[in-house]
Amino acid sequence: MTIYGGIESGGSKWECAIGTDPSDVRAAARIPTTTPEETISRAVDFFVREGPVDAVGIGSFGPIDARAESATWGFITTTPKRGWANTDVGQEVRRRLDVPVVFDTDVNAAALGEHRWGAGRGLRTFWYVTVGSGIGGGAIVDGKILHGLFHPEFGHLRVPHDPAADPFAGVCPYHGDCLEGLASGPALEARWGTPPAAIEDGAAWDLEARYLALGLVAVISVLSPERIVVGGGVAEHPTLLALVRREITSLMNGYLGFEADDDYVTPPAFGAKAGVLGAIALAEAAS
Ligand code: ZN
Repeated sequence: MTIYGGIESGGSKWECAIGTDPSDVRAAARIPTTTPEETISRAVDFFVREGPVDAVGIGSFGPIDARAESATWGFITTTPKRGWANTDVGQEVRRRLDVPVVFDTDVNAAALGEHRWGAGRGLRTFWYVTVGSGIGGGAIVDGKILHGLFHPEFGHLRVPHDPAADPFAGVCPYHGDCLEGLASGPALEARWGTPPAAIEDGAAWDLEARYLALGLVAVISVLSPERIVVGGGVAEHPTLLALVRREITSLMNGYLGFEADDDYVTPPAFGAKAGVLGAIALAEAAS
């Protein structure tokens, strides 16, 4: 039997797991993200101690280089996270464990895992979005992760922003008021002066749903996904998904008779585990 290792490499922690599918996770570990050397070493030690594994999937925070033909394949590239810019993760893990390694974004990994076993199962085309410390999106098209010039950068989509109604300038260091700049967790905290989980003002969540829906309507119009799965810490707010469905339906305005119902915009089946299980799905898909 082939045993897989999965790593969700995040900016604050690495979630590592060994198994074959969500019902067969044999070991798991959470490692704080410190320096690259220490973090990679602790992850490798986990797989050596609890393994062996036959292949490893890594779903990483980015931006990353996931182009198989590139000399810097497996690298985290231009991240502003201190100490992690231009860091080799994929090649280093492959060298130390001497097994095949698949390297992709954390969002693409989660999309694949939800497609393989969760909320996207059986669909040809679907979109996974995470709304947390950043905003990211990944697509499954004809059962495979969509790759291109680089990875989809849904968070940096420009969305209509009326400064008269919402004078907040946005927090994206590149664009200010792109979707991530307006609607990520740090954007909410900067605009409202309180962490997202503590925001009780209904108008704040109406505005959040509006921005997310504007972004998602662009995805619906371009990619035509059969379902949208919305994960991430901000999306755990109890009414946000209902508001997003309402806003999408309103923005579509009856076009194609489209309505975003409970079945169209859904939470991930695996919640906070979507990333690490997706990393296992990455390893499985490559072998
Ligand atoms: Zn941006």
